[in-house]
Amino acid sequence: MTGPVPLPYPNADAPSQELIAACVHCGFCLPTCPTFAVLGVEMDSPRGRIRLMKTVWEHRLGADAAGLDDHISKCLDCRACETACPSGVEYGKLVEGARSQIVVARPRSPLERLLRTAAFEWLLPHRRALGAFAKLSIAAKRLGMGALLRATRVGVARRMADLLDLVPDRASASPLRAMPARGEPRGRVAMLQGCVMGSVFGETNAATVRVLARNGVEIVDTIGQTCCGALHAHAGERPLARDLARRNIAAFEQAAVDAVVVNAAGCGAAMKEYGWLLKDDPKWSARASAFAAKVRDATEFLGDLGISERPGNIRRKVTWDDPCHLLHGQKIRSQPRALLAAIPGLQIVPLEEADWCCGSAGTYNVTQPELARSILERKVANIVRSGADTVVTANPGCLMQIQSGLRSAGSSVRVVHLLDLLDEAYGTN
Ligand code: SF4
Ligand code: SF4
Repeated sequence: MTGPVPLPYPNADAPSQELIAACVHCGFCLPTCPTFAVLGVEMDSPRGRIRLMKTVWEHRLGADAAGLDDHISKCLDCRACETACPSGVEYGKLVEGARSQIVVARPRSPLERLLRTAAFEWLLPHRRALGAFAKLSIAAKRLGMGALLRATRVGVARRMADLLDLVPDRASASPLRAMPARGEPRGRVAMLQGCVMGSVFGETNAATVRVLARNGVEIVDTIGQTCCGALHAHAGERPLARDLARRNIAAFEQAAVDAVVVNAAGCGAAMKEYGWLLKDDPKWSARASAFAAKVRDATEFLGDLGISERPGNIRRKVTWDDPCHLLHGQKIRSQPRALLAAIPGLQIVPLEEADWCCGSAGTYNVTQPELARSILERKVANIVRSGADTVVTANPGCLMQIQSGLRSAGSSVRVVHLLDLLDEAYGTN
């Protein structure tokens, strides 16, 4: 007597067979995939990775197979393949589903388990701990610890050195403050503080609040909000991501607002997918979908609302780099460009491959340092070729990654968040 065939994936977060079936293997996505461009291997392309996920469903490969882990880990989750795909394959959901299964199925070394626990449970959800870690990292970098760690040739020490390369020269952790609208009221919003934004880019959060208020938008306090869980979801830590999502939904529901504004593209993309993340939770799925419908990137919100107060003049040659999770994850292309064009005095020059990943991709520059470096070098070369003195973007990972690449290349090009640039322009009024 034969019993039911066991499911090949450990749990219901597995990459959906329905989503996999949408792929018709046409290969239109291949030329847009950064890892395929570097490695030239089919299994490191979107089509190849989807094929691997299907092979597990066919019981021809285990969810714990080293090869599956290797090719799925090398994916940036940049979602450029989604933009290119004529069949509408939702690749981000697939790759994050696959990662959630590999995390459960594959044994990890005690050290790797410790590092994941430290990052995902002890640091990211706790802004003060993350802020202290950021300050410690900046001090270590100033003392030249990066070179010392690299010289040890110990794997984990070299990973720490890679992390120090990314650390900005300083961190600001000013908490988000409520602010009334200036002039005629045009909206009422709450804002995500964010884990990295709140502990490293606090000044950008303050700038975002000031720019919104200048344009007639009231910003209200939100008690109890936390890290959005994007990095957890990207790394396959679905239960932790769901836990953070529930806490944020409950916190933001208290604020009766028109929108929840987010100035970190990766966080916004993840929060717009809370409905999907909690779709199998009967208590939360409807609340999660209602919440997700209110999430707006700051550039999207302000771009759609339109600028009511003209910014001041800035004389600078700038170029725009699309964060992957803004362009490919949220399909936002025109609004940031329109906001940039609204700043008088800027000379805006095009950036070749502005829609390509910079290699940041959450924790990718730590987990896949060689690949991340080679993808970053391509981005830096394009920026230098553009002739701009400032590259503008809208995501903390991109800000840190591109700044670190430009520094290594000996370039003096500055990297700024679009909301900081707008705030600077208003400051010249
Ligand atoms: S998400 Fe990016 S790296 Fe991953 S398969 Fe798609 S295009 Fe390639
Ligand atoms: S993911 Fe889309 S573009 Fe890529 S092979 Fe499949 S159907 Fe074609």
